[in-house]
Amino acid sequence: MNLIMLGPPGSGKGTQAIRLQESNGLVQLSTGEMLRQAAASGSETGKLVGSIMAAGNLVPDDIMVSMIERRIDQPDCAGGFILDGFPRTIAQAEALDGMLARKARRLDAVIEIAVDDGALVERIAGRFSCADCGAGYHRRFRPTAVEGVCDRCGGTEFIERPDDNEETVKTRLAAYHAQTEPLLPYYRGRGILRSVDGMAGIDAVTAEIRAALGAFAA
Ligand code: AMP
Repeated sequence: MNLIMLGPPGSGKGTQAIRLQESNGLVQLSTGEMLRQAAASGSETGKLVGSIMAAGNLVPDDIMVSMIERRIDQPDCAGGFILDGFPRTIAQAEALDGMLARKARRLDAVIEIAVDDGALVERIAGRFSCADCGAGYHRRFRPTAVEGVCDRCGGTEFIERPDDNEETVKTRLAAYHAQTEPLLPYYRGRGILRSVDGMAGIDAVTAEIRAALGAFAA
């Protein structure tokens, strides 16, 4: 099964994609994560995308499309993937359609996680992750079981994303509304979009997504 998780920054796309990856044997493809790795590498492209991300703007479509195509071609994606953070523009969605058609593959479902703007700034501003294994947490909504110790790997170093601050979040939200939201009618028209209530708790959202995917599989 090949899926897209759509939703504004902070809606829980990554959290839910990781859960589906573990339970459904799909590979999570987070373009934000790929770009953060590129930025950390210090390459020329990395420097460019790092500065765009720090400002909360979108990285150019051509960079994103070739990045995702290279990743989809890897053998681990043969059994299905979850796109987390891609596509973010109509141009990216059209390029994705073209590349999947060339590879004789198709999109099975697009899940929109709908969350009110007002909740997003608070959600994003409290995020942090384990510096060793990348497990994601939130100071208020998903703290570690033991303070200062990662639940998954026992690591004690944590990091916050530089773009997870209030000002940049506002720019990222504006980019979502202007450039990514038009994807909702794009996929709705093809009958593959399902919206879930992202204001519910993490487990309830997972259950709703599983139910939606079950309906597609049936
Ligand atoms: P995310 O981790 O999904 O919130 O992405 C973090 C940042 O990476 C975004 O604010 C953008 O600057 C950039 N980014 C990630 N995915 C894309 C994409 N598909 N198109 C353009 N920019 C992207």
